[in-house]
Amino acid sequence: MKFQLLPSTFDENGRASARQHLACFVVDDLIAFDAGSLAISTTAKQKKQIRDVVLSHAHLDHIAGLPLYVDDLFATIKRPIQIHATAEVIEILERDIFNWSIYPRFSELRNDYGVVLEYRPFEIEEDFAVKHLTVKAINVNHKVPSVGFIVSDGKSCFALTNDTSVMGRFWEVLNETENLSAILVECAFPNELSDLACASHHLTPKVLEKELDKFKQNCPIYVVNIKPMYIEQVTRQIMELEIENLCILDVGRIYEF
Ligand SMILES: [Zn+2]
Repeated sequence: MKFQLLPSTFDENGRASARQHLACFVVDDLIAFDAGSLAISTTAKQKKQIRDVVLSHAHLDHIAGLPLYVDDLFATIKRPIQIHATAEVIEILERDIFNWSIYPRFSELRNDYGVVLEYRPFEIEEDFAVKHLTVKAINVNHKVPSVGFIVSDGKSCFALTNDTSVMGRFWEVLNETENLSAILVECAFPNELSDLACASHHLTPKVLEKELDKFKQNCPIYVVNIKPMYIEQVTRQIMELEIENLCILDVGRIYEF
């Protein structure tokens, strides 16, 4: 499986920066997990191919690129863009984003080829198919309803916590998962901002260390979703944990799981 965290933020020379404001992970240039930078950073090939978007939750940094992506491709979409999300998240998108005020309700619009956007609700802890992938969503512990994912292509699999604080069930399911090639864990704030992390239901390196005690498998662990203003602090504190297999995921790099 090919896996890539799309760049979302650029330095003064226009190059991709490690400071990530938005979350969007692309698998095999075909499927997007969250859509923060979907319209901004996808290649022409990805724009041509990605018609499935799997959402963890409706926070802006995870969906910001979705309305713009549908807008960009509107006239050329031959197979409707499928948004895979819980019923709760779909309701929020329709009520608060695609509500004709913030952006058009694309689910009610058609181009020359037919409908352009469809919702595919999924259930918690029930496998669902997205192209060649099998995905399972597990509830995590965020300020709003949010899920982590276990994603398999039949040969290997990886897991994403997405935005979360301390978890129980996610680690239980992960420990029972076979062929796990990698996990991606969030760590939004540095230890100094533990109150803010707690209030907003995110992790710090210190809390992440305790969380990883619950993880009984041995595979690479990549840290993602670091708040852009704290990238240096969080990176340093993650490295100071000296946990084998734990490192920061490189923005834009293509990983093979
Ligand atoms: Zn969030």
